[in-house]
Amino acid sequence: SNRIMLGPLVAAIDQGTSSTRFLVFNAKTAELLSHHQVEIKQSFPKEGWVEEDPKEILQSVYECMDRTCEKMTQLNIDISNIKAVGVTNQRETTLVWDKETGEPLYNAIVWLDLRTQSTVERLINKTPGRNKNHLKHKTGLPISTYFSAVKLRWLMDNVEKVHEAVLSHRAMFGTVDSWLIWSLTGGKKGGVHCTDVTNASRTMLFNIHTMDWDPELCKYFDIPMEILPKVRSSSEIYGLMKISSNLKSGPLTGVPISGCLGDQSAALVGQMCFKDGQAKNTYGTGCFLLKNVGTKPVMSDHGLLTTVAYKLGRDKPACYALEGSVAIAGAVVPWLKNNLGIIQTSTELEQLAADVGTSYGCYFVPAFSGLYAPYWEPSARGIICGLTQFTNRSHLAFAALEAVCFQTREILDAMNQDSGIHLSQLQVDGGMTSNRLLMQLQADILCIPVVKPSMPETTALGAAMAAGAAEGVSVWSLNPEDLTEVTSEKFEPQINPEESELRYARWKKAVQRAMNWET
Ligand code: ADP
Repeated sequence: SNRIMLGPLVAAIDQGTSSTRFLVFNAKTAELLSHHQVEIKQSFPKEGWVEEDPKEILQSVYECMDRTCEKMTQLNIDISNIKAVGVTNQRETTLVWDKETGEPLYNAIVWLDLRTQSTVERLINKTPGRNKNHLKHKTGLPISTYFSAVKLRWLMDNVEKVHEAVLSHRAMFGTVDSWLIWSLTGGKKGGVHCTDVTNASRTMLFNIHTMDWDPELCKYFDIPMEILPKVRSSSEIYGLMKISSNLKSGPLTGVPISGCLGDQSAALVGQMCFKDGQAKNTYGTGCFLLKNVGTKPVMSDHGLLTTVAYKLGRDKPACYALEGSVAIAGAVVPWLKNNLGIIQTSTELEQLAADVGTSYGCYFVPAFSGLYAPYWEPSARGIICGLTQFTNRSHLAFAALEAVCFQTREILDAMNQDSGIHLSQLQVDGGMTSNRLLMQLQADILCIPVVKPSMPETTALGAAMAAGAAEGVSVWSLNPEDLTEVTSEKFEPQINPEESELRYARWKKAVQRAMNWET
């Protein structure tokens, strides 16, 4: 047949909160050759609860791989050119399964979920001085509903099947990366139970200095260490794919899975932020600004997290990042659609907002899951304020987009205060960056240019790079000189800084009201 001649290819599984993707890149040019995407259902069984079905997540990965392989065959690209697969995933989301049956023992508890609020309060109450930063010196994180340890604690306390499986030594804990790698390397028939340092650093059980599970932290949360996956670097061969031969993706059997990074770390790598001081902001379900701080962890005095950025090889040093996490960004879109019914699509949101070009003094703080950085206030709740007779759904749409920009500004301010160094521009990516009005608003509210790469799939690219560069694969160089220049688009600030400051000051007032909501 007439196959197109290409160099080695590397694929990435990108399992995000709202969708799963499988993407194939050319390892020489970083060009995206083929991909497929499938939405993931979220369920909200009680107020504040957010769950996803682990089997649906796995199924969506198979579907994306199958459809991508089909597309490649149509394009006359040989699937056997794929030399490695990388995994990147929504972080913190917590699963427990039975290693003998391979069955999940409960739904995945999604990172946004608030059910652990009382567990968190109980833990904080028993720490000296009720200090939510009691474990920060080891973990880089405040005690919060966000991280996996409290979710795992909840599962062990409230789900009989989980409790029993732990007692009978059949339970495996994992974040989504572990669930996927275990399943894709054979599952109950010899699957590899592992995670990488970036995902591990989001559990609160991992010591970011020793780079391993910490017995004291496990004791604090009363979690048996035998259920934890092995911690590996972000770039090494974890195992080989085992895919049923009846599937279109069957030919991927035997391909090494050799890259693994939490989605935000993967985006940092995909945006080539390898130098101390380089930063990127990703706008997906939530919004996450990460700044590379080099090979020594830096602790924040302004409400940011310290997290492992990446460790690209067993013998390579770990790099750390300061992170500002915003729980609700793109997640306002399904809320405005399903709960308020004021839009049908995300494009409509942009059009509505563009029609008015102002929120007309309306401020919308979408603190649906409490507030994350820099406040870490689980009891905050969303508010919409500044309404008049004149306010309409367009103004609300505009306020929703502005909220994303203001939240980013708060994080950037915290980063500037922590380091004393101001970013001269912001590199961005994620599903929401297709919204051009949002990008312009962001430049206006930050008063610095916003730079968006023309290839938007930077998270997947980062995972593919890590996989392709792994020892024993070595088809992708991570040497900055060898890396392909990326083309990008720049949004320059257009409003005057005074107006920007005024709007930001009002936003801050609105946040204070969301914070003190219950008192
Ligand atoms: P995740 O990795 O969290 O699944 P993605 O990076 O895939 O997220 O981005 C999806 C998010 O971006 C969704 O929450 C969606 O509502 C939002 N989004 C996508 N396009 C737009 C748009 N044009 N305007 C506003 N939000 C958008």
